[in-house]
Amino acid sequence: MDSCVFCQIANKKIPTHFVFETAGIVAFKDIKPSAPVHYLIIPKEHVKSVAHLNETHDAIAAELIFAARDLADKLGLKGYKLVFNVGSEGGQVIDHLHLHLLGGWNNKTDIDAMPHPRLDK
Ligand code: AMP
Ligand code: ZN
Repeated sequence: MDSCVFCQIANKKIPTHFVFETAGIVAFKDIKPSAPVHYLIIPKEHVKSVAHLNETHDAIAAELIFAARDLADKLGLKGYKLVFNVGSEGGQVIDHLHLHLLGGWNNKTDIDAMPHPRLDK
């Protein structure tokens, strides 16, 4: 999709350093990191969000997660977050599926302040 910024990145129309690339996906640093380590892993194919995945996307969905895990390992992250924002109510701003890899926190205050949703609240 010509108007989509992540399609332009995946198609190399916007020059971006890829830390990882396969036939189906690419990974690069988030331009405005919200964690000490923040990468995005995206499919080359334009899929709007997790809500738009269908049975033809099984391999891509798995590849995004495994690539994020392997990148985290390569970066030496012992713990990390993998986040898909879905839809504007879920905080999604760019309508091209992307997996956020967030990590690199190493002080107890930051780690203790993380949200831990509990069912008994
Ligand atoms: P989301 O809110 O889940 O849609 O996240 C979109 C993310 O894309 C944000 O964290 C942005 O900082 C990031 N972003 C937007 N444009 C670029 C770009 N050209 N290169 C890298 N990251 C970007
Ligand atoms: Zn796109």
